[in-house]
Amino acid sequence: MSRGGRRHGRPHLPVESCHSLSAGGYFQFAQMWAGLDEQDYFEWVFGEQSVVIRFTRDGRKHAQEIALTFTPCRFGGRRAWFACPSCGRRVGKVYLPCQMYYGDRRVVWFRCRFCYDLTYLQRQDRDKYWTFKHRAERIEERWLGEISEDWISKRKGQHRRTFNKWFEKREALMEKIEKSEQAFIARLATFFT
Ligand SMILES: [Zn+2]
Repeated sequence: MSRGGRRHGRPHLPVESCHSLSAGGYFQFAQMWAGLDEQDYFEWVFGEQSVVIRFTRDGRKHAQEIALTFTPCRFGGRRAWFACPSCGRRVGKVYLPCQMYYGDRRVVWFRCRFCYDLTYLQRQDRDKYWTFKHRAERIEERWLGEISEDWISKRKGQHRRTFNKWFEKREALMEKIEKSEQAFIARLATFFT
């Protein structure tokens, strides 16, 4: 796992644990650990040179202005970019992490992915998990009978050998699914300790 590693002994935060705003004006609420933020309010107004984001966090009001730059598009029009308020990089998105602290308060600055050292960790785990899950489901649909908590029945007229083969393949996949779930949970735990 190359992208999900540790750097300077500190694990990366996943992109999915951040709110994000794209320079095109699309705001996405964090998919993970956004529980504390459910009541929060976000508003963004794009001007010619900058965007102003107003929001609430932990009962306080905040505002941040971020400079915009534009590049021409090949087929006319122009594309907007942020200048990251911290490092100045030209970026398409800025992020506000839900679980990053400065002292004992949560951070209240939108910054680029590089400044917050973000990764797409969750996506990789999730992809692996779903690959196994889909494979198992396909086997169940095509080769296995009724499935309950602790019993899988053979299909009518199916050879015992055929049944056993697919039964075992499914078992192996179920084990992988469980392992990838456990690995994910274990890795999540390392973010906040
Ligand atoms: Zn930056």
